[in-house]
Amino acid sequence: MESIQMRAYAKINLALDVLGRRENGYHDVRMIMQTISLYDRLTIRPIVKNERIVTSNLSFLPTGKGNLAYDAANLFLDKLGTKQGICVELEKHIPIAAGMAGGSTDAAAVLLGLNELFEKPFSPEQLHVFGLSLGADVPFCLLGGTALAEGIGECLTPLPSPPPCKILIVKPPVGVSTKFVYENLKLDAATVHPDIDGMLTALRAGSYGGIVSRLGNLLESVTTVHYPEINEIKEQMIALGADGALMSGSGPTVFGLFQNSRKASEAFYRFKTGKYGSQTYLTELERRSRSR
Ligand code: ATP
Repeated sequence: MESIQMRAYAKINLALDVLGRRENGYHDVRMIMQTISLYDRLTIRPIVKNERIVTSNLSFLPTGKGNLAYDAANLFLDKLGTKQGICVELEKHIPIAAGMAGGSTDAAAVLLGLNELFEKPFSPEQLHVFGLSLGADVPFCLLGGTALAEGIGECLTPLPSPPPCKILIVKPPVGVSTKFVYENLKLDAATVHPDIDGMLTALRAGSYGGIVSRLGNLLESVTTVHYPEINEIKEQMIALGADGALMSGSGPTVFGLFQNSRKASEAFYRFKTGKYGSQTYLTELERRSRSR
């Protein structure tokens, strides 16, 4: 058995709505998910010892239970009932606790990579079920591209990708707990929900203007209260020529969309040389669902 290399792509939410809270604490959502070209690299190697090992380039990241790459490897190998040992080398590039599904995409890449290594013992539907047991964003990360995610995130409808554009990513130096944001979300009759149906129409029509005008994230109402820098970054992106800007997921990462590449590069340079420079990236849409 040889080793395998995987790219685990980050996501942004072009739109994110929350419909309500279930008794078990999970929330019903309607989200437009989009894979982008920022990725972690994973190398999955068979090892002689009957062990599951994860290593990482970030010393503060747990490498045992609780690391979603480790949990995914454990789950897959247990389901397969194999004694084969595995080492996953994780090279993180996606910002942590950022609203970009960094852990979920690593889990998805481990499931897909191991399924390749073991010559496809599981169907895509089985991987979907394994993924969902690891986290609500993992099923989308298995699929990739552009999709509507409903239910708790697991009911996926693939969508056409938006027209090509540059995506500027800026993460202020704070980590946001997804749990905290959902727990502090207040839903009532006065809540103004993002226009998900309008976003679907715009995507299906390939209307860039329609997409940009429907960018919306209900969770901004919670996160921006605690982190005012999110609105500052959005305003700065618009001032630098972004066609639209939004917080991704539960934040604090902000993304800006640009059809004009020159403006995108100039804005990238301005942020890269500013106070958020260490976590500023210029990326694109990723259409392929997954590549190695
Ligand atoms: P989401 O958008 O799905 O809410 P996120 O980008 O906000 O995800 P992650 O980067 O996945 O958040 O990290 C959230 C927590 O998960 C971190 O506190 C981190 O310790 C833990 N974690 C577990 N496994 C990983 C992993 N492989 N990569 C990054 N974080 C991980």
